[in-house]
Amino acid sequence: MVQDVIIAGGGPAGLTASIYTARAGLKVKIVDPVGAGGQAGTTSIIHNYPGFPDGVSGPELMGFMSEQAKAFGAEIEYGEVSALRKENSLFLVTIDGKDYEARSVIWAAGTSPRSLGVPGEADLIGRGVSFCAICDGPLFRDKVVAVVGGGDSALTGAQFLTGYAKEVILIHRRDQFRASLANVNRVVGHPRITLKLNSTVHQMKGDGLLESLVVRNVETGSIGEIEVDAVFLYVGSIPNSAPLEGLADLTSSGYVKTREDMSTGTPGLFAVGDVRDKLLRQVATAVGDGAVAGWSAEKYIIENFR
Ligand SMILES: Cc1cc2nc3c(=O)[nH]c(=O)nc-3n(C[C@H](O)[C@H](O)[C@H](O)COP(=O)(O)OP(=O)(O)OC[C@H]3O[C@@H](n4cnc5c(N)ncnc54)[C@H](O)[C@@H]3O)c2cc1C
Repeated sequence: MVQDVIIAGGGPAGLTASIYTARAGLKVKIVDPVGAGGQAGTTSIIHNYPGFPDGVSGPELMGFMSEQAKAFGAEIEYGEVSALRKENSLFLVTIDGKDYEARSVIWAAGTSPRSLGVPGEADLIGRGVSFCAICDGPLFRDKVVAVVGGGDSALTGAQFLTGYAKEVILIHRRDQFRASLANVNRVVGHPRITLKLNSTVHQMKGDGLLESLVVRNVETGSIGEIEVDAVFLYVGSIPNSAPLEGLADLTSSGYVKTREDMSTGTPGLFAVGDVRDKLLRQVATAVGDGAVAGWSAEKYIIENFR
């Protein structure tokens, strides 16, 4: 059975694209290895998505979006797209080793969190080293945890963790945050957040579980060790774009270059959301991309298959 549209990624960009395409009467399948929700679904509270004056929890917002997608007839399935090619007018989409045909593909696979690459880290991922405060934070009630990073994700994660941990040590390599002023104001002076600025993590230690971080002060060069039960890393992202190599232009960092209608170098292939080369990676812009791509995919299918 040929799908009209296969959407890789069930975050806000992919779900919005599915709402537009399914509502237009197209046969739409979303695949995502972790189900619907995306990174937004792992965010404790979103204050800047319009329509929610008191903020909205990420899981709640993403639950609404996936219910809306399903109500219009989109299918949401677990699965990872590992390869993509176009033969004649159809795309062959490899999902968990099996090929599926689609008239159009919307690539909404987002980004993956970057790790620090320091000694000890790889062995301790999932054993105290985490990339998701909302997923793992509740495991560390009354413990001491660290957050590494200086952007909005790090500061939001640190605030969320204060609801569980007795102390949150926020480690940032510079003396100023690059997060929004609103977020900085919530963190600076917070009774449970200790700032460790001008500092980088050089090693993670632990016998089976994380026990401490070796931290270097970048100004003085001094090295110290801090005991923590967990560390949450928010140090950047890597775009999930590998299957698009050869089909779409990518930046040197791997972000997908698109036109205003979200089209790529291959007709019928669109890219949306955080995986795209763009100025601002947020839920509101992901949703906007998804709406445009949904409309563009519908137009492409009408012009080429109807
Ligand atoms: C901690 C944190 C806090 C944030 N806070 C805010 C905030 O307050 N406000 C705001 O607007 N934004 C916030 N953001 C950013 C926001 O979450 C993202 O901009 C948004 O989720 C991007 O949506 P997306 O659909 O492009 O990608 P994502 O939400 O990342 O979804 C991509 C999906 O694609 C899936 N996927 C990956 N590879 C494949 C593949 N090969 N095949 C199929 N599926 C695949 C992934 O599993 C994932 O579910 C935050 C992000 C983080 C990490």
